[in-house]
Amino acid sequence: MVDLKSQYDKIQQEIDSAVIDVIRSTQYINGSEVKSFQNDLENYLDVKHVIPCANGTDALQVAMMALDLKPGDEVITTSFTFVATVEVIALLGLTPVLVDVLPDTFNIDPESVKKAITPKTKAIVPVHLFGQCVDMEPLMEMAAEHNLYIIEDNAQAIGADFIFKDGTRKKAGTIGHIGCTSFFPSKNLGCYGDGGAIFTNDDELAKKLRVIVNHGMEVRYYHDSVGVNSRLDSIQAAILRIKLRKLDAYAAARRKAACYYDRAFANHPRIKTPVRSKFSTHVFHQYTLVIENLDQFALQKFMGERDIPAMIYYPVPMHMQKAYIDPRYKEGDFPVTEMLSKSVISLPMHTELDEEQLKYITDSIIEFLG
Ligand SMILES: *Cc1c(COP(=O)(O)O)cnc(C)c1O
Repeated sequence: MVDLKSQYDKIQQEIDSAVIDVIRSTQYINGSEVKSFQNDLENYLDVKHVIPCANGTDALQVAMMALDLKPGDEVITTSFTFVATVEVIALLGLTPVLVDVLPDTFNIDPESVKKAITPKTKAIVPVHLFGQCVDMEPLMEMAAEHNLYIIEDNAQAIGADFIFKDGTRKKAGTIGHIGCTSFFPSKNLGCYGDGGAIFTNDDELAKKLRVIVNHGMEVRYYHDSVGVNSRLDSIQAAILRIKLRKLDAYAAARRKAACYYDRAFANHPRIKTPVRSKFSTHVFHQYTLVIENLDQFALQKFMGERDIPAMIYYPVPMHMQKAYIDPRYKEGDFPVTEMLSKSVISLPMHTELDEEQLKYITDSIIEFLG
């Protein structure tokens, strides 16, 4: 799905020398590279505080820990997401309240969120799925009206712009109270191991988040709250600094591949290509088709036989996962999510796709569908 080897080959000298510098510096934990990356990312995102951490799942967990929620408090999110979003809510003893998504963007449906708000609701977690922002303005209005926090799960859309109705823009992950991201190798800004970060413009929240990632400790060996150990290591930070400078160019390469796919499938009666919403740019973490009456696994197998990777994100919605089965939900409750889970297929999407590969991929799919 991603070609990290070819991407590395093009930046090998820069990466290798940065990694060796860290090794020679012996500042493996909380070294100067971590601080520099934090500053670089704050500048790129135009956000006041970036708190690096160990991975995207920790970012979400720490964000939720900082809100001082109590067991039983409700957190609204989407059933059509990667498990981490829902997992951390459950882990903290909070109640995940799942809602459906919109068929065009695959993103959480603001109307469904509105209907799901109760007096116990404390937070909403919009997930900017596949590289495109959720429609944040209605969510921000609901949050203001009901005194709710918004935590953006931005693991898939770093670098995307949210476009407000008045035309102003903000980077995905910097619109709500807290934004979370992942630097897992296959994400748009990926390191060479695990990594993550939390963003906020709120000074008080930033202070709390920094304490939580560091064992609940502000003054060394004095623990005022229960925290965790969640750090980005210096080698990963050094790699991320180099890749951050290329993030916009990488997004452009992804968009170019997406445009090729769009054109190749434009007139196919069964294929729906990804829409571009008016309130967001698209950084194409995934290029995901919706195909009617599709045997997804047969298509995946057909492509596999031709050495083309294809993935189904996500085959089982959260409300139908064994771990999250809940008497509040049953099959049929989220028709859009359930329809998508049966008809989506994501194609190879990365920064190194060339026309020959794209032609081979698109020809193969059209051949399969007839
Ligand atoms: C990848 C991902 C995460 C988790 O990130 P990790 O770094 O793997 O823990 C969370 N949410 C979404 C939507 C993701 O895609």
